[in-house]
Amino acid sequence: MSSNKKYTFTLVDKETCISCGACQMAAPDIFGEDDDGLSFSLIDDNKGIKPIPEDLLDDLEDACDGCPTESILVSNHPFSADAVEQQAE
Ligand code: SF4
Repeated sequence: MSSNKKYTFTLVDKETCISCGACQMAAPDIFGEDDDGLSFSLIDDNKGIKPIPEDLLDDLEDACDGCPTESILVSNHPFSADAVEQQAE
């Protein structure tokens, strides 16, 4: 078992997603399809603020590798915390 810490937060950039569905095949517990056919993170409604469960990180990596438009954004830090704070100002 690898103890390497991988990226634990993710969201889909819907501006560039082309609805190919590859990420939903690679990581069905992480990515779903919204009403417009675009992919989004099921984990936290595409906010990128809730850590991905450790047992799904391999799937996340596969999905990132397989996305043809590099629309799956990943980070070791929550994405929207700053944005949420800025919006609250
Ligand atoms: S693999 Fe990339 S382009 Fe395809 S549905 Fe997922 S996020 Fe969109």
